[in-house]
Amino acid sequence: MTAHCLDCGAETHSDQCPSCGLTSEAAEVMLRHRLLRRTAVLLVGGLLFVPASQVFPPLDLDLILIFVGLVFFTALWMVFWIDRRARKGFDVEVLKRIFFGLVPLPWVFAIFLFVNGKFDGARPAAEPARVIGRLSMGGPWLHTRRLIVRSWRDGRALERVPVNNYNYDRFQPGDNVVLQVQPGLLGIPWVVDVYRQD
Ligand SMILES: [Zn+2]
Repeated sequence: MTAHCLDCGAETHSDQCPSCGLTSEAAEVMLRHRLLRRTAVLLVGGLLFVPASQVFPPLDLDLILIFVGLVFFTALWMVFWIDRRARKGFDVEVLKRIFFGLVPLPWVFAIFLFVNGKFDGARPAAEPARVIGRLSMGGPWLHTRRLIVRSWRDGRALERVPVNNYNYDRFQPGDNVVLQVQPGLLGIPWVVDVYRQD
């Protein structure tokens, strides 16, 4: 018996919820169904976020990837945690709310990054930079290719500029390049393209 109904979240001190009428056993089945549905939404959001973040790649893509990755795996881990606690008869109301709050975040971030680039009407700024390193990581799904340049922004030493395969292959450390950067509709600067400096 739990202090909150596993299905509707109403306070209950008997085996049958006074609010929705479900027994604690039936409420547990409902909870499991909801967890499964939300987990599916989370997984699809996580899968969509990766390509969506590369259409208009933000300058700080690595930080954003780490943050969304943390949200994604925390939420995924919470599914198992909530399920285990519910089985043991512990209260899961707060955990459930946190989990339901985390689920849409990969979708929200994917939409943010897309809107940020898609509807950015500003003129791109040209930032001259010198390539000091390159970085390529990941597997078939999440493949990160970065050019490392000294930063032109205050308080930052280096920029890890996301680039496509073409730009990754044609630039080497020591090359002078020009980065085309736009401020982003939502204030998240993103990289349009990289050119060779004449
Ligand atoms: Zn209930």
